[in-house]
Amino acid sequence: MVDDIADLIAESLIVRDLRGHVTLWNRASESLYGFSSAAALGRSLHELLGTRHLFPMADIEARLLAVGSWEGEVGRHGADGRDLSVEVRWTLRRDVGGMPVDIVETGRNIAALSALEQETRLAAHRYRNLFQAMAAAFWEMDFSRVRMMIGGLMASGVTDLPRYMADNPDWVVEAMRAVHVVDVNDKVISLFGASRRDEIVGGHVAWCFPPQSRHVFAESLIAAARRQDRYATETTLTRLDGRFIDVLFTVCWPEEHKGRGHVLVGVIDITERKQAEEETRRSERRYRELFDHMPVALGQLDMRYMNSQLAARYANQPPPRNEMDIDLNFIQDILRSTKAIEVNPEAQRLFRARRREDMLIPIERFWRTRPETVRRTVLARLNGEPGYSEETKVDALDGTQIDVLYTVAFPPSTWERGTNIVAFIDIGDRIAALARVEQMQAELAHAGRVAMLGEMAASIAHEVNQPLAAIATSGAACLRWLNRAEPDLGEVRELAGRVVSDAQRAAGIIARVRDMAANRRADHVPLNLNELVEEATHFLRHEFQARQVELHFSPVSGPALVSADRIQLQQVVVNLAVNALQAMAEAKISPPRLSIAVMAVGAIWLRVVVEDNGPGLDPATSPRLFESFFTTKREGLGIGLAVCRSIVEAHGGSIEAGNRADGRGARFTFTLPSVKAATSGI
Ligand code: ADP
Repeated sequence: MVDDIADLIAESLIVRDLRGHVTLWNRASESLYGFSSAAALGRSLHELLGTRHLFPMADIEARLLAVGSWEGEVGRHGADGRDLSVEVRWTLRRDVGGMPVDIVETGRNIAALSALEQETRLAAHRYRNLFQAMAAAFWEMDFSRVRMMIGGLMASGVTDLPRYMADNPDWVVEAMRAVHVVDVNDKVISLFGASRRDEIVGGHVAWCFPPQSRHVFAESLIAAARRQDRYATETTLTRLDGRFIDVLFTVCWPEEHKGRGHVLVGVIDITERKQAEEETRRSERRYRELFDHMPVALGQLDMRYMNSQLAARYANQPPPRNEMDIDLNFIQDILRSTKAIEVNPEAQRLFRARRREDMLIPIERFWRTRPETVRRTVLARLNGEPGYSEETKVDALDGTQIDVLYTVAFPPSTWERGTNIVAFIDIGDRIAALARVEQMQAELAHAGRVAMLGEMAASIAHEVNQPLAAIATSGAACLRWLNRAEPDLGEVRELAGRVVSDAQRAAGIIARVRDMAANRRADHVPLNLNELVEEATHFLRHEFQARQVELHFSPVSGPALVSADRIQLQQVVVNLAVNALQAMAEAKISPPRLSIAVMAVGAIWLRVVVEDNGPGLDPATSPRLFESFFTTKREGLGIGLAVCRSIVEAHGGSIEAGNRADGRGARFTFTLPSVKAATSGI
């Protein structure tokens, strides 16, 4: 049945088992090879037909078993001893378990193909090869003599062609000389510096392979012998004038040319590309050296995610003006998806990384403490700034926070390339020194305040003691006069009068002490209240930064003149702000927010409003806040607000404490006459 069908096929169909013994031989095989099916069945196929190929049959069969199929042209002889060139296709059949069973061969006698069919096949291949070589200088070469040389080698027992060629460079040169250049296109003439075609056509190719490229010729022969379609490599060739050119060298070894021994060689000049590559390599090396040896920590980031996110979000709207307009969650998302792709040794040191790879992670890890820095960076970038820099803190891998000067530039090229470089300079030492100085100052100030308190206490004790003693004495005398059988009301009246005036003296002393706390004689000049408040917040900028306070300041528009003592009024603003910071810190508010506004009240008054988002004021104690020595803090002195009130009142104003309208935090306001009102004496 199978045989019957096989007999209907016009092509030779032969099946052989894994030992090579024929198990099926159809009618077309009978007519091609001249052996009857009876004569062929059970025989070794290759013995029967004397199958020949450039490579040993054993190698090809091994490859067939490995890959499952093979096709090519083999030499055979028929029953009458005729030589045949047969194009065969071998397919390995497997059983359901995947085990090889036998090999199915279809074969066509190449000579028997019609002339038209041969020509068509040739033209198709030519066309394909020309197409491949289109951008190239191409050569058509006759390799038939080389083929004979290879055949000779095989006949003399050489099986390892690559080894032989490697060991015998002279043979390779000889093979180059045996090549005959059949034709070249115009590009060959110009590329190889010829003036006429016949300087190249008709000759050999030994001249264009310099010694360092001869292996390329050998490899292309080996590729051809292995029946690869194509062989391509980059190499250097020599022009006729002896100059070297870098080329992409391609050999197409069309099977149907094999009969004629012709190959097509395409050569593309890549000298310029090579030079550009070398230049890039050199500049990359320079950059690399800089990158590695700078005493600055450098990191290269993959910016693609950030770029796409920014583009998606801000393509159709004006850039944000304020950092608060950029959602911190958006920044966190960017930080999670942006990776460091390279860091230099200094960066490893600064960020305490044991290995470079430990740092090639999403940069969120480094910005845990201060993601706002990245938010400000994004703000600067969106607003077209050339770069951004600030003193900030980064998180090292061991969990420590490091003070750094952080810098990033936004050159368009690096953004387009999708990477960017950030730099960090360790300013820990400087900051530590500064912090020590600040701490010393704070300690000094504290000591000064304590000393002042001691002094005040002593002077209060001293000065108040005296009227108190007098009051006690007068009181006791009063009682004595009253306890008499006949009280002397005249004496009592006089003594009571003394008690009152001594008490007044004591009150006067307290008032003087308060004035002393207000410290100095006032020096009134016209001042811009907006500027004054801004200056006061400027004093506290380190404090704001350290505690990461969000400060909102809204000045009044229009004139804001008051007649005031600059230092005293600043002291008021500073006191109110520091109280707010302390209250928010105590309650661990995050983020602490302080807003200061200057506003006009009617035509003559100016008001400063200081609001925080701390716990607010306790209604039970708020009536006493402005009293001297009232404090709810363990280390508090309780004179800050008292001094504020003295100062504000000395400026003809008033101060008030309360809670914010929304109940979330305290609100202190003080109101002063504006300059016109002050000078007109209101
Ligand atoms: P001290 O700050 O030394 O305690 P002050 O006179 O400045 O003295 O403040 C008196 C008290 O007022 C504080 O102890 C605190 O209880 C309260 N206080 C002042 N400002 C605020 C505020 N912004 N929020 C809550 N409580 C405040």
